[in-house]
Amino acid sequence: MSTFEAFVLTKDDGGEQHLDWTSVADSDLMDGDVTVEVSHSTLNYKDGLALAGASPVVRRWPMIPGIDFAGTVSSSAHDGIAPGDEVVLNGWGAGETHLGGYAERARVPGGWLVPLPEAFTPAQAMAIGTAGYTAALCVLALERHGVAPDAGPVLVTGATGGVGSVAVALLAAAGYEVLASTGKADEAAYLRDLGAAGVLDRAELSEKGRPLGKERWGAAVDAVGSHTLANVLAGTRYGGTVAACGLAQGMDLPASVAPFILRGVTLAGVDSVMAPTPARVEAWDRLAQDLPVATLDAITDTRALTDAPDLAGDILAGNLRGRVVFTVG
Ligand code: NDP
Repeated sequence: MSTFEAFVLTKDDGGEQHLDWTSVADSDLMDGDVTVEVSHSTLNYKDGLALAGASPVVRRWPMIPGIDFAGTVSSSAHDGIAPGDEVVLNGWGAGETHLGGYAERARVPGGWLVPLPEAFTPAQAMAIGTAGYTAALCVLALERHGVAPDAGPVLVTGATGGVGSVAVALLAAAGYEVLASTGKADEAAYLRDLGAAGVLDRAELSEKGRPLGKERWGAAVDAVGSHTLANVLAGTRYGGTVAACGLAQGMDLPASVAPFILRGVTLAGVDSVMAPTPARVEAWDRLAQDLPVATLDAITDTRALTDAPDLAGDILAGNLRGRVVFTVG
């Protein structure tokens, strides 16, 4: 019987969650027409939630967590995917309803995979991960609504986090003037190195504010939600667009309709998990085209997968900077 090593989350009769690094049989893998030898994975906010049992991310037990992986195909019955191909998986329920990427091996439907872009190694693809690919989806959402570098500054909230760091770098590389909002005053130099032209204290945005404020930015990428998103909308210039993808402050949106009906502001929602394949390919192409690999490497902390449980609390507390890559095996 062939086996591989993986993190496995289980729930006991009392509803308590347990995480073990253990052997799993190939026969326990779920349905899929492609098997991948996983070389790298990563830590996203949602992975932190799953490992901590802090939110109902996991909806199938037992579960191998990990919403992302990169690796090499070992067997495939899927048209267009062959053994030896290097592939990337983001989302589609991996680590939630389908066994995920914190494992040496994964089996998924081939339609979930995207080819590893030539510009990146598997480790760099995981340095991007769902966080970075979501940042690209946000930038593309802004541009679909007519945002261009001449629209004025683009605000990025949660800027030192995974989504935020990649969004700052991607926007700056594409010629936008980026304003980075952060709670980490000592990371201003990090954000300027990524390409931010200005840095804001997130305290300016995190309390209940007025329905409309001074028009300060032409567009925004918001990874934070709650009062922050409400204030981001209230500070967006006439006709601007805000791409909302996150809830680091909260899932609520205590806002008014004033920015929409008085300034024609657009709120564009961004989901990475079920994004259709063409949108994924477009996002990965954009990352390959614009994201400087040296910048990506500078924001990446490479760790062994077995460090994941120790880092889960840090990402939930907003204490991490940039991106964590896990080497598997
Ligand atoms: P990180 O933890 O890496 O970054 C989040 C950042 O938000 C922190 O670094 C911090 O940045 C800021 N932050 C944390 N707590 C608070 C708070 N209470 N108030 C205001 N700001 C806060 O997470 P990711 O970047 O990976 O993810 C960000 C969000 O995006 C998460 O909510 C995640 O679930 C969501 N997400 C959604 C996706 C989608 O498909 N829609 C896909 C990927 C992520 P700083 O200190 O610089 O202010």
